[in-house]
Amino acid sequence: MLELIPRIAKYNLFREFGLAKPLPTNITVTVTDICNFMCKTCNIGKLYTEHPEIAKNELSAEEYGRIFNNIGRVFWITMTGGEPFFRRDLADIAAGIYKNSEPRFMTIPTNGYVPKKIAGDVERILSECEKMRLIVNLSLDGLGSEHDEIRGMKDSFERVLESYFALRDLKNDRLSIGVNTVISKFNIDKLGEIAAFVGSELKPDSFIAEVAENRSNLYNEKDDIRSENYGKVLRALIRQNNSPRTSTAAIIRLARGVFYRALISGKPHRCFAGFASACIMPKGDVWLSCVKRSSIGNLRDVNYDFRSLWFSEKAGIMRNELKKPCSCMLANAHYTNLLCNPAKLLTVVKQ
Ligand code: SF4
Repeated sequence: MLELIPRIAKYNLFREFGLAKPLPTNITVTVTDICNFMCKTCNIGKLYTEHPEIAKNELSAEEYGRIFNNIGRVFWITMTGGEPFFRRDLADIAAGIYKNSEPRFMTIPTNGYVPKKIAGDVERILSECEKMRLIVNLSLDGLGSEHDEIRGMKDSFERVLESYFALRDLKNDRLSIGVNTVISKFNIDKLGEIAAFVGSELKPDSFIAEVAENRSNLYNEKDDIRSENYGKVLRALIRQNNSPRTSTAAIIRLARGVFYRALISGKPHRCFAGFASACIMPKGDVWLSCVKRSSIGNLRDVNYDFRSLWFSEKAGIMRNELKKPCSCMLANAHYTNLLCNPAKLLTVVKQ
């Protein structure tokens, strides 16, 4: 964490005065648009099923290596999708990123549909990325057939549990296993039951609830999915008091409390998207924000020179737009904002 202090100062200077000009330290890499689910809160799977050609010509592991060689050190990587474990070369991509950028943490969210592939890839990533902590978050939006119904896939509840226990069997202290639930109008009344099941039957390293949102990257901008009554649910989750098994889980738990309180308050936040964080889309577009469509160009067009896009005039103009107050509900964005906000960070450290 100490290595981050000079970077945090630079991100504040960059955001407020355009000075210091650091590269991002939290990068979300959307490795594929392939997904087999028909979730009610996300349309990536539907889009892919109707138009499988959208997943053609995605960046290769070798191209990711070149990109991260140009970026250098980063603190946190999220490899997401679509369903990231549908990439045959996911472990190669992770190993290439690690070799070039040595992230301290890597997070991979998954729908848990392919237990053997998930456990095999995770084992390989842990062995090839020797000092990195890996967080695998399994999505669980209901119990039994209710989960299958919301995720639009038969047997998905059974399979996500199988994946959970396959990961547990790896018994690796650098691996944190999380369970993530998206609170939506489809399951808001069932959150208590889901949380009780997770707490008594699974006991993961972390349990995080996010609130369903309409977002460009989920292709669900017009869908009626939100429930506005999430405050009560989040307050109940804050009161839950389970002991974290690993130091990574303890950090996530503290950050999660701050995240829930921010969602409950609904106040706009001082966002560092486009300053401390960035997103790389499957075919090489770089977005300043993972939530808002905000491409600053394509890495293939600039010979994988991330820096030339990040410091371009177009990026500068779009970055100014992102400085406007924002109330997005993305956990990853809140964690970056927390990291870059020394006063808030202090309140977490003191807890
Ligand atoms: S939420 Fe995940 S599993 Fe569901 S459609 Fe979107 S990418 Fe696929």
